[in-house]
Amino acid sequence: MAFKRHQINRRVIDDLKSRSTIGMYFYMAVTIGVLSVDGFYKRHFAFSVAFLAAMTFIAIFRISHYYLFDKIEKTSPRLNFIAFFASVFATSLTWGLGFAYFMVQPEELSSKIIMLASTVGLDSGGVVAFIPSWGTSALYTVIMLMPAAIALSYFGVYPALVLLIILFIAYMMMIAFRGNREYWNALENEYLLKQKTEEIQRISRVDVLTGLYNRRYFDEIFNIQWKAAVRNSTPMTIVIADIDHFKRINDTYGHLAGDAYLKKIAELLAGIFKRDTDFIARYGGEEFVFLLDGLDRDAVIALAETVRSETGKMTLFHYDHKIQTTISLGISSCVPQPNDQKDRLFEKADKAMYQAKNSGRNQVVFYYDDNKG
Ligand code: GH3
Ligand code: MG
Ligand code: MG
Repeated sequence: MAFKRHQINRRVIDDLKSRSTIGMYFYMAVTIGVLSVDGFYKRHFAFSVAFLAAMTFIAIFRISHYYLFDKIEKTSPRLNFIAFFASVFATSLTWGLGFAYFMVQPEELSSKIIMLASTVGLDSGGVVAFIPSWGTSALYTVIMLMPAAIALSYFGVYPALVLLIILFIAYMMMIAFRGNREYWNALENEYLLKQKTEEIQRISRVDVLTGLYNRRYFDEIFNIQWKAAVRNSTPMTIVIADIDHFKRINDTYGHLAGDAYLKKIAELLAGIFKRDTDFIARYGGEEFVFLLDGLDRDAVIALAETVRSETGKMTLFHYDHKIQTTISLGISSCVPQPNDQKDRLFEKADKAMYQAKNSGRNQVVFYYDDNKG
């Protein structure tokens, strides 16, 4: 899947909310601060109560939404989306209207200065927090600062301040734009790195010639499944298969014919072992190993027999030649105990496979012993 820049996905929403919600604590502190300076609230009681109530409501809503986000996401992601952006713009609009109210007061110079400084600070904080979404940053600034600019122009006060506010909005937009580009570059790099890592991991597990898993990955999986089998006392089975007289194919028809035969065998095996829990790997040159769980002895032998008979029937057409050979398989099963060695299980399957070779090849041998482990 290709990376989509500027797509507001779950990751971006997570970033937006974790970056911005913390700001609500500052909004609350600053609200109380600006209303208290010089007893501003006493002279503007109705406004102060309304402003404080609105900011408190928004802060409680946003902070609780932050914690409830994951729960709501399960049932209604769209509601989450709307609630988040609506409460973000409610914050900037409420603050913007409060800011405008302060700035058009004929008196209250110290309150106005403090409100101006606080607004500049809170607005830049918001812009930086919303950088993952440039539009949100830009809209946030405009909604927060334009009411004051409009009100000041309407009453014809502080024309220089109106100009400064407009300049500040433009400056914030530029910062948001630049930061947004850097954010998405970083996110894209992170995505590409993850994809490359997965690709490298896949390559490191797969055998190039046959596309089956390789020995390295077999060792890893064997280790994991062994531990799980010990923990759960479940049976575990290893089958080792080695193509008979494979060297002859190489010597008679060349290595490319040998390679083609190995690929065909791999397809055959993949067609036989279809369970999710079956693990098959190319262990070495013309040796394959199958890791099976929870199967009973007869079922495993039947499966190995299928591999043996299908291999015997398989023909590779190479130029004018029909190439055919057989395969020998050794099986070993156990219910692993905590003190057992997993290599012993492998050795027993290997032994059984050599026994099949020594008994004339094209056979399945099950390793029986009286000692467990
Ligand atoms: P046996 O029945 O006893 O197993 O005889 P064999 O000839 O199969 O056994 P041996 O181990 O002597 O030969 C294995 C051959 O597999 C030798 C090696 O050149 C060949 N081989 C190993 N890997 C590859 C490969 O990737 N491609 C090809 N074409 N041949 C390979
Ligand atoms: Mg061999
Ligand atoms: Mg062989």
